Amino acid sequence: MNLRRQQDEEPALDELYRDVIVEHYRTPHHYGALAAPSVRTEGMNPLCGDEVSLDLRFEGERVAESAFTGQGCAISRASASLMADAICDRSVPEVVRLLTAFERMLTEGDEPDPMLGDLEALQGVARFPVRIKCALLPWKVLRDALDEYEDVQGE
Ligand code: ZN
Repeated sequence: MNLRRQQDEEPALDELYRDVIVEHYRTPHHYGALAAPSVRTEGMNPLCGDEVSLDLRFEGERVAESAFTGQGCAISRASASLMADAICDRSVPEVVRLLTAFERMLTEGDEPDPMLGDLEALQGVARFPVRIKCALLPWKVLRDALDEYEDVQGE
């Protein structure tokens, strides 16, 4: 908890539920499971009851397809949907850069990196400390997926 934040004005909820977030919540992109994923990882955020299961299919060092399922709040779902869009057709190093930029935007208060694109809609979440875990859950599951893929490659 950042105490300085409490002296600020109460952040407005419309800063949290921006149009892009509401749209992705209502109509998530890449929702479902892949027929033949290279890796499948899942995670949950017990504070909010969010669950995410992520399927990735790699072609070499590139994410060829991504899909997710799960249930949870608008923030976790929108974050998963935007993430699934953002990582498609990216190389593993690019996905890692995206992941780092997203985490830094939420936990360090960094200005959004241009590579984040529509993901900058989640910047307002940084002002709602209890919701940061919701937004980061799909990315934590993504990190596990990358680790698992690396292990599979190493075998
Ligand atoms: Zn949540």
